Parts: sequence; C-alpha cells; structure tokens
Amino acid sequence: MSEKLSNYINGQWAPSAAANFLDIHNPATGELLGLVPLSPGEEMDRTAQYAEAALADWRNTPAGERIQYLFKLKRILEDHFDELATIITQECGKTLGESHGEMVRAIENVEVACGIPKLMQGDFSEDIATGIDEIMIRQPVGVCGSIVPFNFPGMIAFWSLPYAIACGNSYIVKPSEKVPMTLQRIFQLIDEHLDLPPGVVQLVHGSKEAVDVMLDHPAIRAISFVGSTPVARYVYSRGAANGKRVQAQGGAKNPIIVLPDADMEMTPKIAADSAFGCAGQRCLAASVAVTVGDARHTFTEAIADMAAQRVTGYGLDDGVQMGTVINHASVNRIEGLIEEGLHEGASALVDGRRARISGYEGGSFVKPTVLADVNPAGNLIKTEIFGPVLSLVHVNNIDEAIDFVNTGQYGNMACLFTTSGYAARKFRHEAQAGNIGINIGVAAPMAYFPFSGWKDSFFGTLHGQSDHAVEFFTQTKVVVERWPKEWSRQF
Ligand code: NAD
Repeated sequence: MSEKLSNYINGQWAPSAAANFLDIHNPATGELLGLVPLSPGEEMDRTAQYAEAALADWRNTPAGERIQYLFKLKRILEDHFDELATIITQECGKTLGESHGEMVRAIENVEVACGIPKLMQGDFSEDIATGIDEIMIRQPVGVCGSIVPFNFPGMIAFWSLPYAIACGNSYIVKPSEKVPMTLQRIFQLIDEHLDLPPGVVQLVHGSKEAVDVMLDHPAIRAISFVGSTPVARYVYSRGAANGKRVQAQGGAKNPIIVLPDADMEMTPKIAADSAFGCAGQRCLAASVAVTVGDARHTFTEAIADMAAQRVTGYGLDDGVQMGTVINHASVNRIEGLIEEGLHEGASALVDGRRARISGYEGGSFVKPTVLADVNPAGNLIKTEIFGPVLSLVHVNNIDEAIDFVNTGQYGNMACLFTTSGYAARKFRHEAQAGNIGINIGVAAPMAYFPFSGWKDSFFGTLHGQSDHAVEFFTQTKVVVERWPKEWSRQF
C-alpha cells in the first residue's frame, strides 16, 4: 500500500480530510509512490493561525539562536543527501547526478542564510540633529507562504525557507502536487531531528484551493511563488490586492546566441547541456539557439550530433544522460508543439517524439529534439516548451540577435557564445534578461547572488536568495531618538 501523505501542522503530522487525493507515479517506471491530498481551504486556514501563534516567541528568539537550527538543517540534508536525491529522481524523472546538483543548491541556500544575523543588521546615524540619533532596524514581516513548482522538488523551497525563518518569520510551504514526496521526506527529517518550536515551519499539500486561502489569509504577510507565468501573474495580483508583499517567478523562453567566432568544440556541448539537461525542464534551459553568420553551419551540425548521441533513460540507471519529462500529459503537449513547429515550416534534424526506452515502455520520455529553420514569428518561438527541444533560428549580425532576445515576452536568461570581449560586453549591457551567460549555458546564480528574471518571467521587486531574500523577509522600522542630558540623573 502506498503512503497517503499528511500535512505537517503545528509540529504534528495531520492527516488531511481532503475529498480528493492524486496518485504520484514514478514517471519512468510507472510505480505508484504515494497519494497526495488536495487539502481543503480550512486546513490552510488552520495552518496560518498556528503560524501566527508561533510568531510571538520565534521573532523574539535571537537571530544567532535561530540560525543554530539552520546549521543543524544543513547537517540533516547532508546526512540524507543520497536518499533525497534518489527521491527527486524517482518522482521527477531527472538523472541522479542532476538530483545531487539540485540538493547541493538547496544546501547552499541554507549556508547563505546562516549569515542572517549580519545580513539583517540595521543602520545607525548619530546626531542627525544636535542630540538626536536615527536608527533603522529590520524586523520579520510575519507569516510567510511559499508555493513551488514541480521541476526542482527539493531545491526551490530553499530559496525562501531558510531566509524566512532565520529572519524571524514563520513559514508555510505548499509543495507541487506533482512531486510532493521530496519535501514530505525533508519535513519528516525536520520533525525528527530539528526540534523547531511548533508552527515555525509547516507544510500543506494541495493545489489551487490551498493556494487561494494563502493568498487571501489576513495572517499571511508575504508570498514567494515559483511556477508558470499565468499562475505567477495571478498569484502576484491576488496577493498584492490583499496587501501582501509578493515575489512571483514565472516561466521562460531562453535564447542562446552563437557568434561565428565562438569556440566550436566547447559551445555545442554547453548548449546541449543547457537545452537537454533535466530534459529541458529548467527555467534556465536554452530553448532557442540563434546562430549568427557562419555559425549556422558549424553549430547546427555539432548540436544535432550532440542531441542524437545523448543517452535517454531512467535517471537511476548508470550511463543515463537525460531522464523523463514529468508525465504523459507533458509528453503529449511537447510532441504537439514539435508538430506545430513542423507545420510552421521547421525541419526536424533530430526528432525525439515517440521515444521508447527498453525496459521502461510506459515511461514519459521525449528524446532530445533539434528543429532547424524555425519560423521566428511562429508559436514555437513564443511558447515555453519545457521539454528537450532546441529550436534553431538564424540572423545576420549581433544587433539582430540582441533584437531577437529583447523582443521576447520573457526575460529569464540569455546567453552569448563568443571569443570577443567586445561582443560579450555589448551583450551583457544590452540584453534584456535577469540572468546573462557568457560562454555559459545555464547562468544560475550562486545562493549569495539574487535570482530572478525580467519581463514576464518575474512579478515583484525583490528577487530570491541572498540579500534580496533578507529584504523580502524583513520590514524596516526607523526610530528617531532624543535623550536630553537634563532628564538624566547624575552618576
Ligand atoms: P505551475 O504554475 O503549474 O504550478 C506551480 C505551483 O502553483 C504549484 O504548486 C501548483 O499547485 C500551483 N498552481 C497551479 N495552478 C494554480 C492556480 N490556477 N491557482 C493557484 N495555484 C496554482 O508550474 P509547474 O508546471 O509546476 O512548473 C513549471 C513552471 O515553473 C515553468 O513555467 C517554469 O519555467 C517555471 N519555473 C520558473 C522558475 C523561475 O525561477 N523563474 C523556476 C522553476 C520553474
């Protein structure tokens, strides 16, 4: 019998009274991993009340004490590193190496948040007028909610959880209902080993109903969302209309530009890792390669070879370089978009549709796909595919390439491949995206840099991670003080 997942509320495992549960299957093997409740709104409401009750003591716990829990959390994640990576692969389909990489990134955020006693330090000016001082202090915002997507089941909650609690807030996460197993296990470990006061961190499974209660609940003051653009826009508007601060990271359609002077040994390898790593289900995956001038022929041939050679299979098997996409619905959607691209005039240099992997015949596989001569005005160029599909477009010069980048709807990442410092500098300066790669295919910032996109890839002001997270999870208070000498007894 597979595990029926419970919510974690006020330091206890609380079975949900949900009327509906979703089956969670391993997308490669089809094995049933668990049943996730679509929790009713009352369960989120109750959780928010506990989170509010936990605040009084938690915000008064010194920051230096709060981060002791993070040191422990880091140790717990490291002690269960392989186990957690294996669960990620089992529920999400990526390779074990990719799952290890994901957990490294999660732990990195815990490490950075350990610096919060220093990072949330305030400011002080003596004598802004004679005998008057001004002090700026940072205080927690209150109860914080987080809603996360399916593609990084272990990492994305860590863009917010460690920062929120180290800043003195209480925190509720709603995992993706497609991949709830990893966070469920992490919360079991938190429950067993961390000894946090009840209500400081809580987990509620579910989907829209639970999210809507989060967005409307008066006790919840801040929302961190990561997911697709339509939902990010919705979460941002509804949360903001209710007076909450919201950071909402959305979808992407990342272009990489290949100039004729690029290193053609290195560039196609990096581009292939970007486009086909995690089966293209990364918000920083290359989705369109724009070749400039003579790069068209050299790059096209090399990337097609890379795609054709990539070994697709079950992420826990040795030698596998690319795993599954998330489910059969996703296979159908991706294959439909490839079909549409072909109708719009593209030609398939490598066609990954109808992939059959021996031993995993029921798995959700799409093999790497490379489409050439894709219509730059067509739907394939506009739509986030979120699968292992690289579209090729050709332009005549770097200005046209930058124009291509800047006319896109999204602005999560843009990359340039070149050996020219001048071209790199021009691109860095002019490209409209939150993350820029120069001879890098996945320009993912370390946890001590802020992370977010531009345009329709992000709604909000303060980004995830690092000092932006500290600003997001604290509110400033300015105190102006006068203490005249006459009021003092003489000592
Ligand atoms: P999604 O938007 O479908 O779901 C994200 C979360 O929102 C889930 O927890 C889900 O339960 C909830 N949700 C879904 N529909 C909702 C609705 N109508 N109302 C309220 N809540 C709702 O995204 P996904 O398919 O899980 O993840 C893939 C998407 O996430 C891609 O678009 C990808 O680019 C994006 N993503 C972005 C970043 C980033 O940093 N910008 C990082 C990772 C993933």
